Amino acid sequence: MPRKFIDCREMPSESNCSVALSADTDQELLDAAVQHAVAVHTHQDSPELRQEIKKHFKEGTPPVERPRA
Ligand SMILES: [Zn+2]
Repeated sequence: MPRKFIDCREMPSESNCSVALSADTDQELLDAAVQHAVAVHTHQDSPELRQEIKKHFKEGTPPVERPRA
């Protein structure tokens, strides 16, 4: 199973967050990303948030360089 990641640098955010998370399964990644979104970005945990986060999942590992927004 390919590793998945989500990179906060690709998200529009006022805080210029540079955190990237990676995991072997969607479930682990989703849980970590939701916790991050709630704790750092003050989102509410909801099915809509989880759907939105899943759209940003990518295969592989986070790039070293900051991606273009
Ligand atoms: Zn973030």
